Amino acid sequence: MRKDIFVLVEHRKGEIRDITFELLTKARNMVQTGGFVYAIVLAKNGDNFIEKLKSEAHRILCIENEKLEHFHSDYYQQVLGSIITDRKPLLTLFGQTSYTMDIAPSLAVQLDLPIVMGCIEFEIGDDKIFTINQVYGGKIHTRFSFPSKNGGIISIQPGTFTAEQGDLSAEIERITFSFEEITNKKFIQFVEAVAGEIDITQAEKIVAIGRGIKEKDNLQIIEDFAESIGAVVACSRPIVDAGWLPKERQVGSSGKTVKPKLYIALGISGDFQHLIGMRNADTIIAVNKDPNAPIFGIADYGIVDDLLKIVPALKKKIMEKCEARSA
Ligand SMILES: Cc1cc2nc3c(=O)[nH]c(=O)nc-3n(C[C@H](O)[C@H](O)[C@H](O)COP(=O)(O)OP(=O)(O)OC[C@H]3O[C@@H](n4cnc5c(N)ncnc54)[C@H](O)[C@@H]3O)c2cc1C
Repeated sequence: MRKDIFVLVEHRKGEIRDITFELLTKARNMVQTGGFVYAIVLAKNGDNFIEKLKSEAHRILCIENEKLEHFHSDYYQQVLGSIITDRKPLLTLFGQTSYTMDIAPSLAVQLDLPIVMGCIEFEIGDDKIFTINQVYGGKIHTRFSFPSKNGGIISIQPGTFTAEQGDLSAEIERITFSFEEITNKKFIQFVEAVAGEIDITQAEKIVAIGRGIKEKDNLQIIEDFAESIGAVVACSRPIVDAGWLPKERQVGSSGKTVKPKLYIALGISGDFQHLIGMRNADTIIAVNKDPNAPIFGIADYGIVDDLLKIVPALKKKIMEKCEARSA
């Protein structure tokens, strides 16, 4: 019976990406007795990665080759197709990232395996795997299942699980693999996303606005408030879609991930795609008219009221305190 869980180690510019540690933590918690968690390292030189993964998996399978220096979906697929066929894991886990969108569906078709993309949870049943996925922008959760006897592939939304340090001591196995040459696709260069004039990923204080701000004209009140507390202004996706702030200010799964000391969310509902980008802020304050808004689920402090009333009141209080201090 299949029991092992494979986790593809995602790396970019020599660094293992956070999603890998999140998946390995989840895999350790889920693997059944008699099964092993495997970290699958595909790289030009795997030593640096192996060092960081030793405590995270029972076994590390390392395939090293010049062709694996950068992500290349066809070369990745050749290796993964071969080791999944040979070793028959119960599950192969990927992060729901651009790499995965490129490779996982095609791998599933090649191996004739069931696949569920973008999951936020999974369970291993007696003869089935169950997953939970969000649809309609996170408003509805759906449950899928597939028979586990032939194994399957799951991709998980980044930020869903918290990475914890493992305490394993992995066995390391290096595999030599003969690649078929790919000529119609090659890595050219890695292009870093522009940080913009303000880099919200480096900010210690962020005032983030959502659709609750209602009109573009209200931006000025927010910018004044942010300036008064030394914060930068960021936003949810609808604000970028409306063209009120540039894309570099968007927080969330298709925007930036931020970890400020203070995150003030104004008129943001707290959909999953937004929370992924800011849930690790030290202190979160949310202002929302709706007491049931999901943002209150992760906020340290919540104010249920109209943000256009609260923001000027907060600013006034802060100014009074500053004046009192300097008097
Ligand atoms: C593939 C994909 C990727 C996505 N990526 C991102 C992403 O990176 N970042 C992101 O943010 N979203 C992203 N989204 C969109 C996401 O699903 C939500 O639609 C979005 O986050 C909602 O933004 P919002 O909270 O500003 O708006 P809404 O959900 O419309 O919420 C507005 C909130 O404002 C409150 N409100 C209204 N008026 C007031 C007032 N006067 N005072 C106080 N509160 C008020 C309301 O109660 C409500 O809770 C993505 C969606 C998809 C499908």
